[in-house]
Amino acid sequence: MKTQQCFSCGTQDGMQHFDGRSFTIDFRQLTRQVHDISGWECQACSEIEFDDGSAERYSEASDQLLEDSRQLMAAEMKRIRRKLHLTQKEAVKLLSGGGHNAFSRYERGEIAPPQPLFMLMRLLDRHPHLMAEVQSLNEGLDLRQRLEIKDQEREGVTAP
Ligand SMILES: [Zn+2]
Repeated sequence: MKTQQCFSCGTQDGMQHFDGRSFTIDFRQLTRQVHDISGWECQACSEIEFDDGSAERYSEASDQLLEDSRQLMAAEMKRIRRKLHLTQKEAVKLLSGGGHNAFSRYERGEIAPPQPLFMLMRLLDRHPHLMAEVQSLNEGLDLRQRLEIKDQEREGVTAP
């Protein structure tokens, strides 16, 4: 068996050569397999280094997965927003906050939506009637009432 000193932990003959192995790349909920990878693995510290050709294929597959995932999320953001009958501007006001063109950037795949926002969109996709709750919460009546109570309490304390 081919061995060499580990460049990471320094163990003599720590690294063994392997080939024909499959690796799974994952990004958020998506995964992709890369097959027939060869390289070195340290038996002492588990450090792995791929051979040149394998490293290149692995990194290409990672980039591709990232790109596919970005496009998929972009398409989902647009589809769901339209299903909820929101303009991009309304979607920013009600759901995402941030700059006025935030949604247009998500939908063009320029940047990935933050995970909580993407989850919120997917929840609204499954339960679109919750948009009524979103509208109502956005008016903030409940919060304003709490603030008023707080103000009244404070006045009660500081009044002569
Ligand atoms: Zn090692």
